[in-house]
Amino acid sequence: MVSMPRHQIEEQHHAMPGVTMREYLAHHARRNRRDLPPSDEIEGPVHAELYRGLWIVRCPADPCAGACVASSLDPVYFCPDCGAGWFDVIFPVNKTAIARQLEMWRVVGKAASGN
Ligand SMILES: [Zn+2]
Repeated sequence: MVSMPRHQIEEQHHAMPGVTMREYLAHHARRNRRDLPPSDEIEGPVHAELYRGLWIVRCPADPCAGACVASSLDPVYFCPDCGAGWFDVIFPVNKTAIARQLEMWRVVGKAASGN
């Protein structure tokens, strides 16, 4: 799902500078009392998607509905909700072009609405 961003398209490292994706996920795992699996155990790839201006990853484990913000600087994912992972996070190869197009639509929409 792609929704128009309110300000800019963000990733985890924008919202939490200095906090790696692994640190962010480890924090949430501790809160959910889950142990992180060894970081060299990769279950496979998951694809990042845009949701309301954020690059996110949805947990591929069925029936988990977990999701969290993703980072292209540290493209890994572990689900702190169900414990699935690790996964390599795949961003679209045209990620920058997608962001540019969405920003252009946002600017055009803003001008058309007079806001
Ligand atoms: Zn999950």
